[in-house]
Amino acid sequence: MTKLTGKCLCGEISFAADGDVPVMANCHCTDCRQSTGSAFAALMFMKESDVTVTGTPKTFQHASDAGTTMTKHFCGTCGTPLFTQNSARAGMLGLRAGLINEQAEFAPKVNVYTSSKMNATALDGALAAFEKMPG
Ligand SMILES: [Zn+2]
Ligand SMILES: [Zn+2]
Repeated sequence: MTKLTGKCLCGEISFAADGDVPVMANCHCTDCRQSTGSAFAALMFMKESDVTVTGTPKTFQHASDAGTTMTKHFCGTCGTPLFTQNSARAGMLGLRAGLINEQAEFAPKVNVYTSSKMNATALDGALAAFEKMPG
């Protein structure tokens, strides 16, 4: 069990999550880089039902390279990226790890889409790495 809390930059949207975090990953895909404005996305995937959101994020949908529907949730006031969802993983929500207050809870196990990582991004060799999305 994990208790996670966080909020967007302006504070209009906040969340509290309590439950298992089966997947923690850094994603270096172009979509994540564009939607976050960062070198990669740091993500903690949890059951959507374990996450309580206060406020109403805006959403944007796009197709992944695998043809699934991705939904990005963000604050409509300050623009902070909050969550991501993949139609291939119904019921799961990817929390943006940079938002959480409980920093010690974020321990990524894997780097994915390393084929599109920025040249300046150094990978931790102790973590598993996949050129695309595994499985
Ligand atoms: Zn905000
Ligand atoms: Zn990605």
